[in-house]
Parts: sequence; C-alpha cells; structure tokens
Amino acid sequence: MKKNIFFTMIGLFLLLTTASAQNKKRIPTKGLAVFEEKGKFKPYEFSRHAVGDNDIQIEILYAGICHSDLHHVHAAWGKEEFPMVPGHELAGRVVKIGKNVTKFKVGDYAGIGCMVGSCRVCDACKQNHEQYCEHGAIMTYHGVDRYNDNEHTQGGYSKDYVVASDFAIKIPADAQIEKVAPLLCAGITSYSPIMYAGVKRGDKVGIAGFGGLGHMGVQYAVALGADVTVFDITEDKRQDAMRMGAKHYVNVNNPDDLKDLNNTFNFILSTIPTNYDMNMYLKMLKYDGQMAIVGLPPFAQMPTISLDKFIWQGNRKIFGSQIGGIKETQEMLDYSVKNNIYPEVVIIDAEGSLVDEAYKNIMDGKVKFRYVIDMKTLK
Ligand code: NDP
Ligand code: ZN
Repeated sequence: MKKNIFFTMIGLFLLLTTASAQNKKRIPTKGLAVFEEKGKFKPYEFSRHAVGDNDIQIEILYAGICHSDLHHVHAAWGKEEFPMVPGHELAGRVVKIGKNVTKFKVGDYAGIGCMVGSCRVCDACKQNHEQYCEHGAIMTYHGVDRYNDNEHTQGGYSKDYVVASDFAIKIPADAQIEKVAPLLCAGITSYSPIMYAGVKRGDKVGIAGFGGLGHMGVQYAVALGADVTVFDITEDKRQDAMRMGAKHYVNVNNPDDLKDLNNTFNFILSTIPTNYDMNMYLKMLKYDGQMAIVGLPPFAQMPTISLDKFIWQGNRKIFGSQIGGIKETQEMLDYSVKNNIYPEVVIIDAEGSLVDEAYKNIMDGKVKFRYVIDMKTLK
C-alpha cells in the first residue's frame, strides 16, 4: 500500500514538473553575431532558456565592447563556435523575475559581467571567487551552461539575457546607466588586482596599456592616492592620462621616456593585449614590488620571461588576475558610482557595420576609451 502511494506521488511530481517545464518556454531574442572567424557582424535571431525560479530576465540597454571580444572573434585564444554573439559588459533593466528572486524587482537596473554561473560550493566559490570555480565558471558567451541543458551561451550584443539572479549585479538607480556596462569587465578587472595588491596612498603605480581596462585602472589607483605612471605606445593619450590624474606618461616607443625607471614601482598592472617585453616591467619593480597581469594577448603572441630574470630580480611577485568575483564586482560598482568613477565611452548604434568599424578602430588604437553599443537601437 505504502509502495503505491509512493509511486503515485512520484507520478504526480513528474506530471507537475513536466507541466511547469512546458509553461517555461524559451525566450526568443535577437542580437548581432559573427558567423565565422573574423567575420562581419550581422543580425541574428536565437533564444535564451526560460526564466527559472531563481532567474531574472534583463532587457539589455547597453553593451560594452571589450578587447576580449575581439580576441574571441579573431579566434586568438583557440577554437570558437559560430555563430557567436559576443558581449560581457552588460547594463539593462529587469523585465521578469523568477518566483524565488528577492534581490531584484521588475524595473530595477541590473548588470552582467563575464560569467553567469558556477558551482557555488567549491572552495573558490565559497570564498566569493566564482571566476576560479574548481568546476569551471560558466562564461557569459563562449560557455557551456551545465545548469541549463548544456546550452552554448551567447553574449550581450543582444536584446535580452536570462541569468541566475545571484550572478547579476545591482546597478544603483542614480548611476549614469549609459556608462555602467564597461565597469562589469574593464572596471572589475582593473579594480580587483589593485585591491588584492593592497595599493595605498603614496605608492608608485604603473598602468601598462592605457585602453579600456587601463583607463579604469588609472582612475582607481588615483582615487586611492597613488602616484600613477601610464605606459602606452602613442603620444595621443598623454594629455588624457594627466587629465585622469596620472603624474607621468611613458611612451614606450620613446627611449628617453624609459630612462631611470628601474626599481621604481610598488605595483604595476599590465593590461597589454599583445606581445611586449615583460622583463622591462619586472626590472621597474621596487624591491618587494608586485606586478599583476590581466592583459591576455593572442596565444600566438604570448610574452614570456625566463627564470634567470625572475631570480636576479628576486623577491618581486608577478601574479595573474581574472575579472573578480560577484561580491567584489558589486563592491566595485557601488564604489565607482558613489565616487563618480566611470569609463569614457563612445556610444554607437547597434548596427553590424558600426560594430565592424569599432573593432577596426580598437585594433588601430583609435578609441578613447571604450565603445558601448546602444542595444535599444537594434532593429
Ligand atoms: P584596449 O584595446 O582597450 O586597450 C589596450 C591598450 O594597450 C591600448 O591603449 C593599446 O594602445 C595599448 N598597448 C598595445 N600594445 C602596447 C604595448 N606594447 N605597451 C603598452 N601599451 C600597449 O584593450 P582592453 O583594455 O579592453 O583589454 C586589454 C587586455 O585585457 C586584452 O588582452 C583583454 O583580452 C584582456 N582582458 C583580460 C581580462 C581578465 O580577466 N584578465 C578581462 C578583460 C580583458 P593602442 O590603443 O594605441 O593600440
Ligand atoms: Zn572584457
């Protein structure tokens, strides 16, 4: 008898879950995709998984263009799947919430960065560093979402995104929303290692690569009271660096600029997206100084450093850093909005040819400092 009741209950449960799955239809959306390596951007219709009990649906208002998007589109970091909708710097508005969601309500601003899920229980996740999840963080695009039928994730150059609410970031209502998106990657990726290294007032800090990430790094280091030197390959950005509060500017193509810099810096952040001389920067670290690497060049152009250099210039530390965890991303966003720290953005309409042109300008060093796509204009 007990057995019968047990099976009846299982049957009822299956019936209810099937019915609820049928109620939860996939969400049709559209975006801009490339259909092959180094391809052109064209409109693309696809769908997101249904809004689960712990999920929210965000109407994307703005999407930043990160140099990592270019690396992906160029397949510079290995094999990619196409069509690909890039975009991991997303700011938008909540349009739907699952029944368990308390963190957001419909109408709130919300953001998504580079990841949309992780196991939540491994050591890294428990310490709020989901980007280093032992089972793999699920990336916003170019990822496999093991909690949603192993679907291949597509990014935010699109109208809508459905995300677990604990991986969405709250954006204050008074934020300058058109400038927020790049904080979700460029902002956190420079903020996190600066905080991890313990940069403090009076420290000498070098920021190498003065683009999307670098210009955020300059602002955070200046806000902490550091004496900041910017390194880039052009004269064009010298005045911008000073305007943002840097004290010195080094054009690495100008040998005079590079004189007398050895043993100078407490901390250097490298955001350089291509090959460069790492040893040059190692030599510039003070005794006990630290260097964080966030710039990840194409695998075919990877900078290297040989062990003898490390040993001769000992007791300096070089560490890598990947974005930041969700808790820290929220902290960075609140800190940035409160202190009026934003990226300098060039806003473009969501048209394939304009995104193609933006990609070319980024490669040619012609943007100050971050392109943001106005996703509301997508036709
Ligand atoms: P940008 O293209 O916006 O900025 C790169 C800057 O570096 C540009 O100003 C460029 O100059 C400058 N630069 C190029 N070569 C040199 C050099 N040899 N020395 C000094 N400066 C140089 O890129 P992003 O800021 O968006 O991204 C930077 C890198 O960080 C990329 O590799 C990206 O993939 C990576 N990244 C890593 C993340 C992480 O979690 N670790 C997260 C996000 C991005 P110019 O414009 O004149 O060419
Ligand atoms: Zn990025």
